[in-house]
Amino acid sequence: MNYPGKIKEYTDKKFKRYGLNKRNQIARLLYEISARDNKDFRRTVKELPIEDGNYRFDNIKEILLKKRYPSEYERGLDKSNIYIPKLKIDSSAEAKLKNRSYSPSEIYFEKSAAKSDLFENAKALFPDAKYKEIVSGKSRHEKSDYGIKTYNNRRESLFILNEKYDFIKDCPCTQGCLSCDYKIFNLGFGCPYECTYCYLQSYTNTPGIMLPANLNDYFKKIENNSTYLSGKRIGSGEFTDSLALDHITGYSKRIIGFFKKHPDIIFEFKTKSDNIENLLKVKSAGNIVISWSLNPQNFIDKNEFYSASLEKRLEAASKCSRAGYSVGFHFDPVVPYLGYRSDYREVIELMFEAVNPEKVRWISIGSFRFPRSLKRIIENRFPESSILNGELMIGFDGKLRYSRSKRAQIYKNIIKAVGDHSWKPYIYLCMEPAWVWEETGLKPSWRWK
Ligand code: SF4
Repeated sequence: MNYPGKIKEYTDKKFKRYGLNKRNQIARLLYEISARDNKDFRRTVKELPIEDGNYRFDNIKEILLKKRYPSEYERGLDKSNIYIPKLKIDSSAEAKLKNRSYSPSEIYFEKSAAKSDLFENAKALFPDAKYKEIVSGKSRHEKSDYGIKTYNNRRESLFILNEKYDFIKDCPCTQGCLSCDYKIFNLGFGCPYECTYCYLQSYTNTPGIMLPANLNDYFKKIENNSTYLSGKRIGSGEFTDSLALDHITGYSKRIIGFFKKHPDIIFEFKTKSDNIENLLKVKSAGNIVISWSLNPQNFIDKNEFYSASLEKRLEAASKCSRAGYSVGFHFDPVVPYLGYRSDYREVIELMFEAVNPEKVRWISIGSFRFPRSLKRIIENRFPESSILNGELMIGFDGKLRYSRSKRAQIYKNIIKAVGDHSWKPYIYLCMEPAWVWEETGLKPSWRWK
């Protein structure tokens, strides 16, 4: 590993003729190049002519940018889209990846939630946890800071609450993209899995995982808005994984029972788990879709800690489709690396072998994109990760993304791998503007039924 402190020491000494901001930029670029090339930064320095005392800062930055963004540099790099934040890594902020099984040591509950099935299940499953009554989830939040270290400890605290306001939300999508009008069934906040790229890392403002006990109030809200929601797609996998904790919550059985009475609303469970036992105990319904995020196993190993393996996810998909459920697949986020094309082809082959094609409602594709604030969180929590090594730049929506041509190439490769089969599922792009759809040959349209 390249120690950021050493790189800073070097740049402060070697480039002391420049101001702090310029030295920070040199340090950041050197760090990123060396991390990507898996080299000690002193070797990177030796291979680049940046120590030449006659060079001006602009020359040095140009040399470093060319090395850091080689493909985009060839295409005429727009330097205003490069994001070079100060290098600031705290080794104590690293994610703790030691305990795969989810077993919170502290369970906070609102008095009004203490008679719920959820609370009873938690008591049976976690008898050794400390139980503490709280006035409200909010009262506990206010005492927390929301830094990385609090996030790292979130699996230790479970909150069982009664949600009062936020039952359904519009998916915020992203500025300038074709919105699919997804509705979020706001059933819990926080996830026991540890994906390096998870946006919740920069979004979370709670000190633990929050689970509501008052599912009936959610259902009432849906009843009251059923005309508006008719024909729409709603799902619980935005602020958590839909099924990762289903053995504790038992939500899935009740959700299926409820939405069976509302066949015009499509309900999606989105997961990286194989926690489908409850699903298999109830009869499927035509408007229920169970969907899995898929990535090659070597990507899962490095980026989706604690989640089910690719094999287990596909096995679960196979069981659900044989039990009569419709299924969906999300290739999101796709992070291109050497050999990614053949790896995704293989995943697609396995997917076709696992499920009955007629049961597949949709396949979505999305490339790695994230708010700028997440970059520093990822490199602090997962300092060994290579997920940030690609040529990510500030995109049309202010998020870090691959360039338009790179993204179109990624989508075309996956669409082609799917299209090489005789079966033609419905494919859509997630968080992309119409012009990217057109570039990939897809018609911008939505089809959920
Ligand atoms: S499964 Fe989804 S919600 Fe959970 S950590 Fe991974 S990306 Fe985040």
